[in-house]
Amino acid sequence: MASESVKVVVRCRPMNQRERELNCRLVVTVDSARGQCFIQNPSAADQPPKQFTFDGAYYMDHFTEQIYNEIAYPLVEGVTEGYNGTIFAYGQTGSGKSFTMQGLPDPACQRGIIPRAFEHVFESVQCAENTKFLVRASYLEIYNEDVRDLLGTDAKQKLELKEHPEKGVYVKGLSMHTVHSVAQCERVMEAGWKNRAVGYTLMNKDSSRSHSIFTISIEIYAVDERGKDHLRAGKLNLVDLAGSERQSKTGATGERLKEATKINLSLSALGNVISALVDGRCRHIPYRDSKLTRLLQDSLGGNTRTLMVACLSPADNNYDETLSTLRYANRAK
Ligand code: ADP
Repeated sequence: MASESVKVVVRCRPMNQRERELNCRLVVTVDSARGQCFIQNPSAADQPPKQFTFDGAYYMDHFTEQIYNEIAYPLVEGVTEGYNGTIFAYGQTGSGKSFTMQGLPDPACQRGIIPRAFEHVFESVQCAENTKFLVRASYLEIYNEDVRDLLGTDAKQKLELKEHPEKGVYVKGLSMHTVHSVAQCERVMEAGWKNRAVGYTLMNKDSSRSHSIFTISIEIYAVDERGKDHLRAGKLNLVDLAGSERQSKTGATGERLKEATKINLSLSALGNVISALVDGRCRHIPYRDSKLTRLLQDSLGGNTRTLMVACLSPADNNYDETLSTLRYANRAK
């Protein structure tokens, strides 16, 4: 069934200092054993909590290590065998997307999915026998439906999406960087990350409004007993999505509102694609509705694996946003 290739988990972070100072109430609970998440409407305490079921539900005491081992590991393993995969974190700003994807260096159990995936890829590469690998990285940003290369020579240049009969959708002129080790991969990512930050300051942009895709492409050349080469290729997309908060509430106007509409367009297009994939009955998957979904087209659906981590705040003052994240994640189920 198509839904096997799409996994959705939720992760609820602990209360932050501000929420504790405001004496916020806890409205999200989790039954990890059943993959269930419950949310209580703070203005309707007499009603039972709303209940959602996912492929996994992680609470404040769970480590990224566990999420990786249980859910991300098989996906990344598939990439080293020649399949495409996509991992992304979804949620409002401040809900724990970067914490989950990038993570902390210390404690080790909270290292993010991205550094773990780097290590996983290079361990597989180094352990494989009779096989040669070419690992390359690229890093792009989608801001306002414009695509830019975060590792190129001109971070301001807008790149075009093209379609090739065999290669599928690709970004014309996107730079690819060969990497031989975890350290090199991390350096490449860091360089792109810095470019992103510089771009924000220069162009008066806000990092929580852009989507970025860090892609590790692996070409695998296996040599059989007769000394013949067999080529397979896998691709891992690590996607950092813009905050999902509804912009009508943030009072955005003018340019900001225009941006917000486009952010939401990509996020809702992504939701539509995933729910069409999960449904399995849809013949038409609406990839063409946004740059994000067009770019991820060969890595969402079909013979590929997708993991979405929906990040949640536990506090009552985020109830509306958290409920909307749960609904989004639930549609993707
Ligand atoms: P986002 O990327 O969604 O905007 P962040 O990942 O930056 O959010 O998280 C906001 C804050 O909450 C950060 O200070 C982060 O360290 C903290 N945080 C998020 N998730 C967790 C967690 N599971 N455990 C502990 N702290 C967390």
